[in-house]
Amino acid sequence: MIIVMKHTTEEQDILNLIEELKSSYPVEIQKITGNACTVLGFIGDTSAIDIEQIQEDARVHKAMRVIEPFKKANRLFHPDNSIIEVNGRKIGGKDIVIIAGPCSVESEEQIVGIAEAVKASGATFLRGGAYKPRSSPYAFQGLEEDGLELLKIARAKTGLPIVTEIMDTQTINKFVEDVDIIQVGARNMQNFTLLKELGRTRKPILLKRGLSSTIEEWIMAAEYIMAGGNEQVIFCERGIRTFESYTRNTLDLSAICAIKKLSHLPVIVDPSHATGLKFMVGPLSMAAIAAGADGVIIEVHNNPAKALCDGAQSITPEEFTKVASKMRKYAEIEERQISEVK
Ligand code: PEP
Ligand code: MN
Repeated sequence: MIIVMKHTTEEQDILNLIEELKSSYPVEIQKITGNACTVLGFIGDTSAIDIEQIQEDARVHKAMRVIEPFKKANRLFHPDNSIIEVNGRKIGGKDIVIIAGPCSVESEEQIVGIAEAVKASGATFLRGGAYKPRSSPYAFQGLEEDGLELLKIARAKTGLPIVTEIMDTQTINKFVEDVDIIQVGARNMQNFTLLKELGRTRKPILLKRGLSSTIEEWIMAAEYIMAGGNEQVIFCERGIRTFESYTRNTLDLSAICAIKKLSHLPVIVDPSHATGLKFMVGPLSMAAIAAGADGVIIEVHNNPAKALCDGAQSITPEEFTKVASKMRKYAEIEERQISEVK
């Protein structure tokens, strides 16, 4: 349930109403102060609350039941877009972020070289996998802890904050210390133990859509993190399984529009994993902007033919430069801007 307060209601009267309701019903009430009005969001059992009686309260503009199972992630709870700030960069506002880097960290020379190149072309974050969720146990599994150390070196040299994937709860403390945005991969989107633990941290979480997850399941995964008190969740659409086999997955651009309608959280697009094909990365980055995404995450490798992982979908730094400069023009059409590093 949510209550929209009258814009003329004084702060003290709002606080009084919260206290009255909390003492009468088994609910937690979240007060959200937006640009236009204050909204009270209810979490818990609201079935005993007489909504008509609340509507008659002189302090209240209107009250309504929330039918969706997600609350904290629901746009009704937070009518304005959430903006997540990471090291001075904003995700979810007017800015469009570009996260770029290799699928996996392979060596110091590789990650630092790519970080410098993508920064020069306008990337605002560096990606790179240290712990890799590979389909085959015989494939390269990532440099793990050493990979995190190399990402830190690349960050120190370029100033680019780092985004990297967590695979299990054992490494959470290390990730909280070392990483700027913790990525939850598609394969772990419904690892509820991991989501709950991440909810206890205060780190921004990049939550990829599960391989075959519905939009509601995906938002509920965000709700798991938010229920623990960590409200800094960024959705990432990375393609879903369909009958189509030409592409690795099928990019669901409509999910961007759906997320924007249902939730206040930012959403970005990963055209690399969505398609598995480098020639689609540029066009679909533009399509992501047109659909209203708050950014992209793109795989860039200095030598895709020799990449230890996902070479076929990785673009070169030169190709990335072209994509980033075209994105700037598309962002302008949408009256947005590609975020700049100061
Ligand atoms: C990745 O970003 O490296 C990755 C493994 O992505 P996903 O979880 O979307 O497959
Ligand atoms: Mn990859």
